[in-house]
Amino acid sequence: MPVWIVWSAPANRTLSPRYSLELVMQSVFDVVVVGAGAAGLGAARDLIEAGLSVVVLEGSHRIGGRAFTEHLPDGSPFDLGCHWMHSASINPFVAIADQLGFRYDIREGYGLQWVNRHGAWLDHSAKARLSRASDEWTQAIRRSCDQGLDNSLYEATDQAGEWRDLLNYWVSLDTSVDVDQVAVGDLINYVDTNENWPVIDGYGDLVAHWAKGIPVELNSMVTEIDWSRRDIRVSSTRGDLSSRFVVMTVSTGVLNEDVIRFVPQLPPTTLDAIAGLPLGNYNRIRLSIPATLFDPEIPERIVSMPVDDQPMSLSIRPYGRDCVIGLVGGRYADYLEKTGPSASRAVVLDHLRHVFGGDLLRHVKGDRQSAWRGDPLIRGAYSAAAPGQSFQRAVLSQTLHERLLFAGEATSPDQFSTCHGAALTGRRAAAEIISLSQH
Ligand SMILES: Cc1cc2nc3c(=O)[nH]c(=O)nc-3n(C[C@H](O)[C@H](O)[C@H](O)COP(=O)(O)OP(=O)(O)OC[C@H]3O[C@@H](n4cnc5c(N)ncnc54)[C@H](O)[C@@H]3O)c2cc1C
Repeated sequence: MPVWIVWSAPANRTLSPRYSLELVMQSVFDVVVVGAGAAGLGAARDLIEAGLSVVVLEGSHRIGGRAFTEHLPDGSPFDLGCHWMHSASINPFVAIADQLGFRYDIREGYGLQWVNRHGAWLDHSAKARLSRASDEWTQAIRRSCDQGLDNSLYEATDQAGEWRDLLNYWVSLDTSVDVDQVAVGDLINYVDTNENWPVIDGYGDLVAHWAKGIPVELNSMVTEIDWSRRDIRVSSTRGDLSSRFVVMTVSTGVLNEDVIRFVPQLPPTTLDAIAGLPLGNYNRIRLSIPATLFDPEIPERIVSMPVDDQPMSLSIRPYGRDCVIGLVGGRYADYLEKTGPSASRAVVLDHLRHVFGGDLLRHVKGDRQSAWRGDPLIRGAYSAAAPGQSFQRAVLSQTLHERLLFAGEATSPDQFSTCHGAALTGRRAAAEIISLSQH
C-alpha cells in the first residue's frame, strides 16, 4: 500500500497554505482526480473547499498539462501550449491573473494583424474582400446549422474563393484540425466574446501558480479504473487506491488510445463520444532573433502568404522579446512534427524570407518548438468534433453510475479547446460530486 499525501479541508473550508497536511497511510478518498491540467485542478479546488478528501494523480513530472510555460536561456517565458485568455470578460483566469500579479495584454480580437500576400501587404480593397469572404463563411456555417446539418466545414463553405487558403489555415489554428475534419456545430456552439488577451508572463505558469495548495501526486500514471463496485479502485504506477468518485480529465487523445483500462469497459455511448471528439494538432515554433531588426511600424501579428506555400501566422518580437513565433495547425502540424524540428524551423525561416527578405535569417540564433502529438500524456492539441459529432461533448460530460465523471476541455459545451473552458468543466464535475455526496 503506498503512502499518499492526503489533504482534507479544515473547518474554514478555504484553500490556503495554512491547510493541514497529513502524511497518512490511507488508501480511501472521497475523490480521485486523474490529471493535473486546468480541468483536474479546477475540480480539485472546489472539492477540497467543500471538505472532501481529494488526491490528484498526474502521470507527468509537472503540473498543467497543455498549460505549459518554458523559461528560455534568455529568461523569457515561452508558452508551448495555451497563451491567450479567450473570451476574457467571461474567463475566470483574468481575475486569477490579477490576484497572482500576472501581466496580460488587453486586446480586441487578436489585435492588429497585417497580411502579406505574395510579397506585398494587403491593400484596402483586398482587406475588404477578405472581410467579406470571412462574413460569407460565417453565414454559410449558420445556414448549415439552421438546416439541421452538422456537416464538415469543408462541405459548408465556399472552397473555391480567393481567400480559401487563408480561411482554411485560420480554422486549423482555431480547431487544430483541417476543414474537412470539423463539424459546423463546433463553430456555432463555441462562445467567443472576441476578447483574446495574451498572458505576457505565461499562461502555463499562471495555471501552475493557481495550483498551489492543491494535492497533486506527480509521476503517478493511472493504468486502470475498476468502477464495477461502489468504491472505485484506481491503479497507478505508484500503487492502488479507492475512492467514492473519480474525475477523469485526461485528453480524448489519451482516452482514444486505450492506455487506461476501464473495468468494466466504458459504455458504447461514451466510447462513441470519445471517438467523435479526437484531438487535432497545433504547434508553436519559436526562433530567437533580435527584436530591433524589425521596423517598429510592423505590428506584432502578421500573416505570410507566399505564392507556393501554406499561409503562416507569425508573432513578431512579442512584448519586445527577441523572437518570432510561427503557428501551424491540422495535418500540416502533424507532418512538420513528424518530419522533425529542422523542418519546422526551415518553414518559419522561409516565411520570414518571404516577408522581410533573406538578410534577416543570419541573425536567427536558435529555436524551440512544441510537439503535442508526440507527447504520450496528451497526444494532440485540442478536441474537434468530427462531422456529425458535435452533440458528443454533452454525451461525454454525463456521469456514469453516479461515480465516474469526465471533465476536460472536450466536455465543455461551449468553451472547448480552451484552458478556461477546461477549468470550468472541472468545476462542473466538482459541483455534481458535491451534490451526489450529500444524498
Ligand atoms: C499549442 C496549443 C495552444 C493552445 N492555445 C490556447 C490558448 O491560447 N488559449 C486557451 O484557452 N487554450 C489554448 N489551448 C488549449 C488548452 O491548453 C487546453 O484546452 C487545456 O489546457 C486542456 O486542459 P485539460 O485539463 O482539459 O487537459 P490537459 O491539460 O491535457 O490535462 C490532462 C492531464 O492528464 C495527465 N494525464 C494523461 N494521462 C494520464 C494518466 N494515465 N494518468 C495520470 N495523468 C494523466 C496529463 O499529463 C495532463 O496533465 C492550446 C493548446 C495547445 C496544445
